[in-house]
Amino acid sequence: MAGSKSGARPTRRNGRTVGRAGNSGPWPKVFLAALVSLTASIVVLVLVAADSFTGDGSGSGGAPAGEPDTPVSVATPSATPGELPSPPPASTERPTPGPDGIVVVACGDILVPLDKQHRLPADCEPPDLVRLPDDISHGGAQYLRPEALDALLSLLDAARRDGYELLVNSSYRSYAVQEQTYATWVSLYGQEYADRTSARPGHSEHQLGTTVDVGARGRFLEDFVGTPEADWLAENAWKYGFIVSYPEGKERITGYAYEPWHIRYVGPDVAADVHHSGLTLREYLLKR
Ligand SMILES: [Zn+2]
Repeated sequence: MAGSKSGARPTRRNGRTVGRAGNSGPWPKVFLAALVSLTASIVVLVLVAADSFTGDGSGSGGAPAGEPDTPVSVATPSATPGELPSPPPASTERPTPGPDGIVVVACGDILVPLDKQHRLPADCEPPDLVRLPDDISHGGAQYLRPEALDALLSLLDAARRDGYELLVNSSYRSYAVQEQTYATWVSLYGQEYADRTSARPGHSEHQLGTTVDVGARGRFLEDFVGTPEADWLAENAWKYGFIVSYPEGKERITGYAYEPWHIRYVGPDVAADVHHSGLTLREYLLKR
C-alpha cells in the first residue's frame, strides 16, 4: 500500500536527477554512476520515511491503489483539539415549554380577556363579594360582586316576568376551587375533554366574581342546552349587562364548547356593543 504510492516517486525524481547529471558532461562515468545511485537512494529513503510517517496516523492503509496521493491522508492524522467540531448550540436558545407565553392580566378589571392565553394572578380575589339570596342559589352558598349581583337580580326578575324561573348553579370560584373543578373534569373525562369544557385555574371568568352559570330546576349545565330558558337567556342577557361567553359554533374562537348557561357581566354599555358587533366576547375584549 504505502509501497505502491511511494513507488512512483523515486522513478520521477530519479529521472530528473539523471537529466541534470547528464548535462554535466566532463564528470567521470564511475563518479556519475555513484552519484546517481547515492542520490536515488537518499530520495527513496526520504520518501519512504515520509510516507510511513503520514500513514501511521491517517489510518488510510486500506486505500485502493491508484487513489490520488495527497488528499485524504494528510489532513486527518494530526487533528488537534482546536480542530474538533464545534459544540452544539447553547441550550439557552431552545424555546422554554410550560406556561411561557401566557399573559397574566390585571386583577380588579372586570373587562380583562380570560381565555387559554390570559389568566388572573392566583391570589386575585374580589374584595367586595356578597352572598346571593338563598332562593336563587342552587347547590349552596353563592357569591358575586355587588354590581354583577344587582344586574343578575334584574335579569332574573325579567325572566320571571316572561315565565322562566332561572337559578344560579355556580358563581364566584376562587383559584383554588377552580383548580379542584378542573382536576375533577380531568379525572372524569381526561384532559382533552376537560380543556374544552373547563378553564384551568387562573383562566376562569368565574374568578372575576362577575360570572354566573344559570340553570332552571332540573336543567343545569348540559341539560340546559336547547331549552326555552336557554333561548331566552341568549336573547336577553345583554340587556342586563351580561354576555354568553361561549356561544354555539364558536369553539374555534373561544376555545370552549357551547355553554348557553355561562354568562359574564361586562356592564350594559359594553354588553350592548358586544351584542351588536356580532363578535364573541373574547374577540371583543381582545380588540379593546
Ligand atoms: Zn361557567
